[in-house]
Amino acid sequence: MRLILLGPPGAGKGTQAKVLVEAYGIPQLSTGDILRSAIAVKTPMGLAAKEVMDRGDLVSDAIVNGIVSERLDQADCSKGFILDGFPRTIAQAEALDQMLEEKGQKLDAVVEMKAEPEVLISRIIQRSRENGGARADDNVDVLRNRLAVYSDQTAPLVEFYREQGLLKTVDGMAPVQDVTAAIRRAVHE
Ligand code: ADP
Repeated sequence: MRLILLGPPGAGKGTQAKVLVEAYGIPQLSTGDILRSAIAVKTPMGLAAKEVMDRGDLVSDAIVNGIVSERLDQADCSKGFILDGFPRTIAQAEALDQMLEEKGQKLDAVVEMKAEPEVLISRIIQRSRENGGARADDNVDVLRNRLAVYSDQTAPLVEFYREQGLLKTVDGMAPVQDVTAAIRRAVHE
């Protein structure tokens, strides 16, 4: 199963990815998590990405494409993966198509998780309180920028994948278990 979870910050991609990892026995590839680990251990890439991420802007396509390309070459991805937070731009989606083509692999589905902006803001504020403000980009001003970046740069992927016949849409505002059930139904359609 090769799956992309697509949706704005706070839509619940990470939460669902973790459930699907258990259900399907395939890894979650979160570019956000990989970048945050690089920041934590202060690699040159992490240091370069930190400022951009703290503002809520996107790290360069070249950096994230490189991360994903390396990750997809690892053995645990051979049977499938759940991409969470990638692609975020049309250029990234095209790069992913190219990487998969070179491997002779195809995506099974792209699941769009829909959610209202007001709900996203309150969910992220809640997440920030729960983890003691651990993520510098979980504050209201940066969040508004992340939502704007999503509608400018990432939302066009909905059409991109609809045209490829891969798009499935679920309601990301439903309770967690209902969203999981909807995703599982959608990918087996
Ligand atoms: P969220 O889903 O809450 O926005 P992520 O952990 O997916 O959080 O991403 C956090 C930040 O990491 C983004 O705002 C961006 O700066 C950077 N990032 C993650 N994935 C990508 C990507 N595919 N392209 C560019 N930047 C990325």
